Parts: sequence; structure tokens; C-alpha cells
Amino acid sequence: MRNESLNPEAVPQSLTGFVPTTTAAASQHAEGTLIDKYGRHVTYIRLSITDRCDFRCTYCMAEEMTFLPRDQVLTLEECLRIASTFVGLGVTKVRVTGGEPLVRHNAVWLMEQIARLEGLKEVVITTNGSQLDRFAQPLFDAGVKRINISLDTLRAERFKEITRIGDLAKVLRGIEAAKAVGFQRIKLNAVMMRDRNDDELIDLVQFAIDKGIDISFIEEMPLGEIGHGRQSTYFSTEEAIERLQTRFTLLPSTESSGGPARYWRIPDTQSRIGFISPHSHNFCDSCNRVRITARGELYPCLGNNDAISLLPLLREHPDDNAPLKEAIMHTMGIKAKGHDFTEQMNSPQVVRFMSMTGG
Ligand code: SAM
Ligand code: SF4
Repeated sequence: MRNESLNPEAVPQSLTGFVPTTTAAASQHAEGTLIDKYGRHVTYIRLSITDRCDFRCTYCMAEEMTFLPRDQVLTLEECLRIASTFVGLGVTKVRVTGGEPLVRHNAVWLMEQIARLEGLKEVVITTNGSQLDRFAQPLFDAGVKRINISLDTLRAERFKEITRIGDLAKVLRGIEAAKAVGFQRIKLNAVMMRDRNDDELIDLVQFAIDKGIDISFIEEMPLGEIGHGRQSTYFSTEEAIERLQTRFTLLPSTESSGGPARYWRIPDTQSRIGFISPHSHNFCDSCNRVRITARGELYPCLGNNDAISLLPLLREHPDDNAPLKEAIMHTMGIKAKGHDFTEQMNSPQVVRFMSMTGG
């Protein structure tokens, strides 16, 4: 595997100046559990392994992006060390994301190592699907059972407009490859956008039904400054459900995939239709996750700027995980009660892009 050399001078400073000194935060919790001050149990991490991507989706990135220098990005070994430490603290699910995780060299190696961690129930990945025709089988062999693939449109020209550079045919081949290797579940993720893809919601559901896979629709979140005011493209879950009901019978379901999606079923089909509705159904009360950026920043809440940089701890203590563990436990004390994305739609308070935090 690639040996990504370290440059200590390039290591970013801790975002909050956290210096591990005591185990006071840790002592509030039973060993091996992460419980925040509102009593929420963190069992799930989303780990961004790169900020780079082979697409530039208009809702996710600016047209011109500056990506991190390589020595400021976690090495894959550091990613594994973080995942392993979280699993030691009771985390049972790791989602590898990005940027586009499959553009990172040796991403499959990392998935395989994470899948082997004792105590972990599942390792999953979110991908734009562009590399899946090559990587579906290796991912499956590495122990990945479920996979999320982003797909906002079934029209090639529109796909190019939304992703700025993506090729729909490649993604459709990737979806076929994923189906062929037999993942337990495949879920499509579609961001709903007024006047950009809202006329395709029915077609996207029909596509999922035809393929025998799930689909979740996501309300657009105000993360990072992009070219358009997000209020103009915002499309709510409520309106989407109304629209889908003109074609399908939607039955509410109590199923959960361990995340914020609320599911509906359509009789006589295998597909679950999910909605991730950070605006209309804020899911902060049941939040069970934290996020780690490709730069090693630990964000306890997607919608807030509080974070701790794990990278200096990893690099200053290469053989001692205690400071890392203590920093992780410390963040349980700064995890925000919640956020209000609706208020932030036209002036985002969170300046980082979704590709940075890991969607
Ligand atoms: N590149 C991979 C992909 O597109 O699936 C993984 C990273 S991407 C940031 C993860 C998910 O976040 C994708 O499903 C994407 O559609 C979603 N996403 C990105 N920006 C978003 C935003 N501003 N609001 C809602 N969802 C967003
Ligand atoms: Fe890349 Fe995923 Fe963001 Fe699209 S949503 S630009 S594919 S990271």
C-alpha cells in the first residue's frame, strides 16, 4: 500500500485547542460506551477518507474546489486507527464516505481491515457509483454487505448538469455490477431539487422498484456556499410524498436502517422508499452518530462547527491510543443538542461542504 509520508509542520492545529490532560470526561461514562450529555448513545461513525471527487455535484461542491494537500489528509492506517478506537468505545457501524471514497487508492484495503474489527457489526460505504463496475466485487469480498449509491436523475444530460462532469452510463453500469455481486441491500440516494429533478421522483422510484433495490430521497442541506441560493431549489419530503402518491400506494413502515431515514413501502414490491428530512422532520433527538473528516476533524454534529482535530494526536502519539480515546470521549460533552437547517438555507452557518464532512 502507498506510504503517505508525514509532514508534522503541515499538521493542522486542534480546532478547539483540545489537549488531553485528564480523564474527567471519560469517567462520566461506562468504559466502552459513548454517551453524550443529552443521553444519546453514539454507535455509528461516518468516516470521510478523501475530500476529492470525480464529480462536482452542484448542491455539494463549488465549481472550483481546492483540495487538501496529501499530507493534511489522514493516511489509510490513521483511518483504521480511528475506526478501531471508536469500535473499542462501542461503535458498531462504520460508514466510509467522502468526497468519493472509491477514488482513494486502496480504499478496499481499508474496508477489509475495518470489516475485521472485533465488535463491529457492519461496514458500509456511500459512493457516487462511478467506479463501482470495477469495485463492486472487491468491496463485497472485503465484507461490505450494504451499499448506498447516489443517483439524482436518470437523464444523461441532466446528470451531466447536476454533477458537472459525471457520466450516467458509468453509474448505471456500477449499479448493475453491485446488483450482480449480491449485496444484502443496495440503496439509491437522491437529493430532491425543485426544477432540477423534482419531475423525476416517480421515475426514480420506478427505477428502484424495477431493480429490486431501495431508494431514499434527501432534503437539500445548507452546507457550504454554492452557486445558487438553496431556498430556490429546496423541495420538501411532504411535497415529494404527495407527488409519489399520485402514482404509488405508499404505506408507512416502522423499518429503520439505523439512520434518520423514515421508510414507506409500496405493496407488491421489494423496495423501501425512504425520506431523509432534516428540515421537515428534524432527527437530532435520536442522533447516534459522529463524523470524521478526511483531515481528521471529529465533528459531533453535521450542522454545527464544533470539532476536535484528531490528526495531531494521531501523529504525536503514534504508539499510544489513550490521547485519541480521551479526545473522542471529550467530544461527547460538546455534541450539540441539535441544529436548524431551515433557518440556515440562504446563509449557511456551516461553511464546510458536505464532501468535506462526509455525507
Ligand atoms: N461521493 C459519494 C456520494 O456522492 O455518494 C459520497 C459522499 S456524498 C457527500 C454523500 C451524500 O451526501 C450523497 O448522497 C450526496 O447526494 C449527499 N449530499 C451532498 N451534499 C448535500 C447537500 N448539500 N444536501 C443534502 N445531501 C447532500
Ligand atoms: Fe462528489 Fe458525492 Fe459530493 Fe457529488 S455528492 S460532488 S459525488 S462527494
